[in-house]
Amino acid sequence: MKYDIEALTCPNCGAPLDVKPGEEITFCLYCNSSIHIGKHEETGEHQETGEHQVTHIQIPPEVISEIKQLVLSGNKEDAIEKYQKAANVGKPEAEKFVDFLLSRLTNVLILNRPLAVKGCLFCSLFLLIFIATIYALVSGAAKDTLLNTICWVLVFASAFNLLALNRAIITTIKYLPVKWTKATVLKFQFINQKKKFSFFKVLLDVKKPDGTSFHSETNIMIKTENAAKLQEGKTIDVKYRGKEKIEILASVSNL
Ligand SMILES: [Zn+2]
Repeated sequence: MKYDIEALTCPNCGAPLDVKPGEEITFCLYCNSSIHIGKHEETGEHQETGEHQVTHIQIPPEVISEIKQLVLSGNKEDAIEKYQKAANVGKPEAEKFVDFLLSRLTNVLILNRPLAVKGCLFCSLFLLIFIATIYALVSGAAKDTLLNTICWVLVFASAFNLLALNRAIITTIKYLPVKWTKATVLKFQFINQKKKFSFFKVLLDVKKPDGTSFHSETNIMIKTENAAKLQEGKTIDVKYRGKEKIEILASVSNL
């Protein structure tokens, strides 16, 4: 069984590289190395198995870091121009690279988050209200005009809240039968800060029940005041599911 999500790794720091078919240039999210991916000599296709040729391109990591910041702050045009100059390529190629960078960075904001205890209680309450008011309306118990109106308001209010939380509810249910396990933070990359929270992409070494481990990436959200506690080597609790494409749910309660 294969647990590694990506066979290609950064020649500089060893982190997994996210490479889509047909891509020749990528960058390492963690150390900002720009990397060229070699093509199969005969077919011109990327090799599916065996050794990939990955080589550094001479774009200083600081420049990649600056381009990343430009992309994150919404200055896409400046980012394209900077890459064009640094890599000495045409505009279409620079645009392609910046789009790739943007997709890799914004992709990070898709978070797997379950409901906290408070959220579970609220959802149970909304569900109870929803079922009770629907029952009152259907059974004819709420014949009185005022009572009827109140019931309808409650039906919509509870349904609205349940829908707003649907992602978290689904995540909670999906991971409910899965046991927590330990994972070590190998690398992390700050992505964004929104209000009191900071977003990171992390590369984890996840322990399996049989004692072996695998590497996988996930996105985490930490209170900005606690962000400094995120360090390489730090152990966090995670749940994981899926075989080919591993999905990780990380708990940062100990950070
Ligand atoms: Zn790297």
